[in-house]
Amino acid sequence: MLPFANLSFWEKETFLTNVDYLIIGSGIVGLSTAIHLKKKQPNKKVLILERGYLPTGASTKNAGFACIGSASELLDDLNHSSENEVFETVEKRWKGLLYLRQLLTDEAIDFQKLGSHELFQANEKTLYNECIEKLSFLNTSLEKITSIPRVFQTAPQHLVISGMNGFQHAIFNAAEGQIDTGKMMKSLVSLAQSLGVKILNSIEVTHINTNEVVTNYGKISFHKLAICVNGLAKQFMPNEDVAPARAQVVVTSPIKNLQPNGIYHFDKGYYYFRNIGNRILFGGGRNLNFEAEETDELNTSDQIINHLSSLLETHILPNSAFTIEHQWAGTMGIGKTKAPIVKHLKDSIYCGVRLGGMGVAIGTIVGKDLSKLILDSTS
Ligand SMILES: Cc1cc2nc3c(=O)[nH]c(=O)nc-3n(C[C@H](O)[C@H](O)[C@H](O)COP(=O)(O)OP(=O)(O)OC[C@H]3O[C@@H](n4cnc5c(N)ncnc54)[C@H](O)[C@@H]3O)c2cc1C
Repeated sequence: MLPFANLSFWEKETFLTNVDYLIIGSGIVGLSTAIHLKKKQPNKKVLILERGYLPTGASTKNAGFACIGSASELLDDLNHSSENEVFETVEKRWKGLLYLRQLLTDEAIDFQKLGSHELFQANEKTLYNECIEKLSFLNTSLEKITSIPRVFQTAPQHLVISGMNGFQHAIFNAAEGQIDTGKMMKSLVSLAQSLGVKILNSIEVTHINTNEVVTNYGKISFHKLAICVNGLAKQFMPNEDVAPARAQVVVTSPIKNLQPNGIYHFDKGYYYFRNIGNRILFGGGRNLNFEAEETDELNTSDQIINHLSSLLETHILPNSAFTIEHQWAGTMGIGKTKAPIVKHLKDSIYCGVRLGGMGVAIGTIVGKDLSKLILDSTS
């Protein structure tokens, strides 16, 4: 492909010059930031640069769980953070989901409010009992946020009807649901483009200077820059606490009379599965090898894929014939805390990164917050 220097006057004028807001990354956050900037300032030029021929981050690779947090996860968070912090985060997720649904519509993202189940294995009796002890406290706190009475309920009957094996207990969460990840991203891209946002694919930013970025084809100047690259942010902000974490997923062949319906988590959220029509999507296993999974490589590892396949056979689909038809890896952005980094870094440079494992719930609201920060700031 031609370097920028060899493009025509028209090409440079139309696509690459006088960029008011330049955004790196066309995931949920980059697209939402662009949408909000364009909605507020329709006459400004908003350009997104994306390294992949498709968006190549977590936003097109995730499991489509519309989550606010399972009982064991919230209790674990309460051990490390204050009650205020934990429930503020839950509220952000809840409001984020409502906002995503309002921005794109339930139909466009195929939102299904089937609820979720947290499953407990035989060796997790203590954890389950802790959850049961605190269930009414969690329900009181969550009702204030969601207006749903009894968000969490025990669901022993579900284990019998779902045909699974090896799980002793289940807790139902009435506030969660699932989306079609592909449809969500298609809708976000369409909305951004309909507002006049330009998206250029296969352009990788390699370096950021005060008012220009260096890419694989040349330089582009900007008035303000938003870095929305999630788990790949370290290269541009070495002092921030953000690291890549690989997450791997498999999808089965279609299964006759598939029983599990909705979304499920187990082992403190390290494993998650759902149905996609009559298939099962199953992901997780990062806890098998944290060190090796702190990578932005997009290949899958035999260790984790084999483990997922084996758990499908023994625990999730013990009575069904299936094959693994799809498998992939994606990059999450994680740090010591679960909160995203939405920040003015320096000069005209801002970021919205480190979305963790809940980007579906908070991604569009992070984009909205970031656009507000950019618009309100005088630099
Ligand atoms: C396998 C998997 C399953 C998940 N499941 C769920 C789930 O069920 N529910 C949930 O809420 N969350 C889930 N997540 C997390 C969620 O997907 C993310 O939190 C969210 O998508 C992050 O969005 P983002 O826009 O910040 O980043 P990303 O979607 O990662 O977007 C960043 C973009 O920046 C681009 N980019 C990076 N560097 C450059 C560069 N130098 N130049 C140009 N472009 C660049 C990338 O190609 C990418 O497209 C999952 C993540 C993974 C990986």
